[in-house]
Amino acid sequence: MISGHQIRRQFLEFFARQGHPVVPSASLVPEDDPTLLFTGAGMNQFKDYFLGRRKDLRQAASCQKCFRTPDLEQVGKTASHLTFFEMLGNFSFGGYFKREAIAWGWEFLTKELAIPAEKLWITVYEQDDEALGIWRDVVKVPAGRIVKLGAKDNFWPSNAPADGPNGPCGPCSELHYDYGEPSPGNTCRTNPCRPGCPCGRFVEVWNLVFTQFDRQSDGSLPPLPAKNIDTGMGLERLTAVVNGLRTNFDTDLLKPIVDAVLVETRATTVSPDVKAIADHVRALTMLIAAGVVPSNDGRGYVARMLLRKAARHGRGLGRQEPFLVRLVPAVVSTMAPGYPELAAQRERIAKVVLVEEERYQQTLIEKQPILEGELRKGLTAERAAWLYDTHGLPYEEIEAVAQAARAAMPPRAQFDQALAALQVKSKTASGFSGAVFAQTLTGQIAALGLTTAFVGDAALEGKSKIAAILQDGRPVETLSAPAQALIVLEATPFYGESGGQLGDQGMLTAEDGKLVVEDTKRVDATIVHVVRLVEGRVKVHDPVTAVVDPARRRQVTRNHTATHLLHAALRAILGHQVHQAGSLVAPDRLRFDFTSSEPIAAARLRAIEQQVNGWVLDNVAVQVHHDVPMAKAKELGALMFFGDKYGDRVRVVTISEFSKELCGGTHLKATGEVGVLTIVDEGSVASGVRRIEALTGEAAWAHLKGAEGQLLELAQQLKAPREQLGDAVERLRQQARQLQQELERLTLKNAQQQAQALVAGATMVNGVRVVVQTVPGADMGRLRQLADALRAQSAAGSVVCLGGVADNAVSLVVGTSADLAVRGITAQALIARLAPVLGGRGGGRPDFAQAGGRDPSKLPEALGQVVPLVEELTKGR
Ligand SMILES: [Zn+2]
Ligand SMILES: [Zn+2]
Repeated sequence: MISGHQIRRQFLEFFARQGHPVVPSASLVPEDDPTLLFTGAGMNQFKDYFLGRRKDLRQAASCQKCFRTPDLEQVGKTASHLTFFEMLGNFSFGGYFKREAIAWGWEFLTKELAIPAEKLWITVYEQDDEALGIWRDVVKVPAGRIVKLGAKDNFWPSNAPADGPNGPCGPCSELHYDYGEPSPGNTCRTNPCRPGCPCGRFVEVWNLVFTQFDRQSDGSLPPLPAKNIDTGMGLERLTAVVNGLRTNFDTDLLKPIVDAVLVETRATTVSPDVKAIADHVRALTMLIAAGVVPSNDGRGYVARMLLRKAARHGRGLGRQEPFLVRLVPAVVSTMAPGYPELAAQRERIAKVVLVEEERYQQTLIEKQPILEGELRKGLTAERAAWLYDTHGLPYEEIEAVAQAARAAMPPRAQFDQALAALQVKSKTASGFSGAVFAQTLTGQIAALGLTTAFVGDAALEGKSKIAAILQDGRPVETLSAPAQALIVLEATPFYGESGGQLGDQGMLTAEDGKLVVEDTKRVDATIVHVVRLVEGRVKVHDPVTAVVDPARRRQVTRNHTATHLLHAALRAILGHQVHQAGSLVAPDRLRFDFTSSEPIAAARLRAIEQQVNGWVLDNVAVQVHHDVPMAKAKELGALMFFGDKYGDRVRVVTISEFSKELCGGTHLKATGEVGVLTIVDEGSVASGVRRIEALTGEAAWAHLKGAEGQLLELAQQLKAPREQLGDAVERLRQQARQLQQELERLTLKNAQQQAQALVAGATMVNGVRVVVQTVPGADMGRLRQLADALRAQSAAGSVVCLGGVADNAVSLVVGTSADLAVRGITAQALIARLAPVLGGRGGGRPDFAQAGGRDPSKLPEALGQVVPLVEELTKGR
């Protein structure tokens, strides 16, 4: 058996020998691209090279961690579908083309991995005679094993010549492996059986994409000036093929996890449920390692759904209690040879999984009855949306329960619509859907293909030219006031929102127009000003003077440098397992999210604060190193957000020896400019993630002075020196306790006295002593107390009925002595007749009952009925 880890190494070494720099996998979480939830292909991280925006690499090879969910439902049911997988690929950016890509592909599989040549079949695009010729005449694959396919199967993007989109595209050529017979349990009815046949005899191993055309709107395909190669080969499938195995789940990349699932679920066969659990828990581990934490939106939502899906498969196998957490060690040890960084994160990953599993269990226990009730009523899209919004039950969850109960489920689109309507109403739209800018405009901005030079590190003012204007999402040449638009300059001192730091505000002044910059965003290499044209007009190519609001920038910068200090202090005090999980750097505050499974004790929080302020007082220089080779940054030990951010030249910000981070934000010259930092809040934002909110500079000063002012005011009110405030408060509390006890004693005494008076004023009805009384201002508790006192003083044969109104609520209590029960008089019987008069309901024991109402005017009427009622009940008995 050749292990998957060895094949990965062999692949990268092979292409390194062919002159390919080996580039590490990008993070599963593409942090620079808000439109993309997860990295799904090897070429994602090379987008700038493919588009010709970067030219420092001509070719590269990588093994990319990928995560995809479109085929989620298939996972476990088929031999090959996975959510997480690794993709091997070699890439050429305007360098080598078909001939080399084909020859190397063949050589790697047949020589390096020794797959017998006769086991490999080739597909080519039907009009790509060039590729066909290379396979047949250069590689010498017999023509009988080369299959021509149409643009649906062998063109990227699929069917692009006919259907678009416009832009770079091209034919593909695939290498297929021939198992020699249909997959187990299948028969083949196709003649001839060839690649593409559904019988399972052939599996696609490697796809070579030759990006050579630039499709136009009229459907024509002129050649691209720089042709690219983009190949992709799933490591799991390749490992299966090389070892003669039929499914990905039999390879060493998944088999140990499958075995662990069998042990934990006590399942005896490798069923679809078992395979799905193995895939999901592996993907979940990799996602959490990349910094994703289960939550109710964005990436976290996907992780949450994946975990719940796995847990449901477990329930299908009879596992009710959390068990996925026990699979994490198997995943870590299986993946560790390729991803050694997982070992250090094992504890954290396990904790996140456990917390989330327990939360799911809790949700099921609490929400199941509500959900079942709704399903019985017939679930509408509006109710389903309500279940999500109010009870946190996602669509998938509701659907699973509905399916089990064979209940109807509203379609997803209707649910989404209903939810959107609900959230617009309650303004609780999630962060991800709130990023309207990112979703609607990044595409158009990326299409401009503009690179903006950021010159705002050195100066907050500068002269430049308008490179593009976008209005309502479309490029325009001119703009007249009043108008709102997006403007791209050739160079700008404005910082575009990224890395948690908010964008700058300020002014752009052209010869004929004035623009207020309300926000600045960044889309890849393009800095975009969100502007309001307040007077005159501007047009593309106009020279402008750009001026950043200096006060706001200064506050933001102060907070940004402070996050680096906070990060360093957290790691110094809590330990190096602490990782940044997100941040927000605004002018008025900063927020720092980090991984930690437990709350930070107050003493440690103080120590963290003290450490930061110590560094501030030391006034240490902040150094920004531009254009550092990635390898060098790693050597320095610079912290990278999510662990494996890619870029071969990076910007490193260091503060003495204690803080080294990859960072593109703006920074102070020295830590002293922070002034002071004060932590104002610490709490949990998601399982395994804590958040600290802090203030710096003037805001921190104002906060501290405010607190001091409150303290002074308190001291004045309590007439005590500040140092003795604690004692003064303690004295007050003691006094309050004594007064409370005294009050209770007096209240009881008062009730007893009142009771005596009431007993004296009782009415005799057929030998029954009846006390009926309104007690002004008494609530239910007070009435009960009084009734108890009365009953203690009354002999046999007595009825007590008291009413009161407090806070507009009407209360009525009835007590009867036990001996009256034989005469048909019980408190329950009386209250049953009196409660309707109050317009309410009542209840209680035979000797004591109560009722309430909302209409004080009904109380006299109710009390007036007591004596006639006793008369009626006792007549003739
Ligand atoms: Zn077949
Ligand atoms: Zn930073």
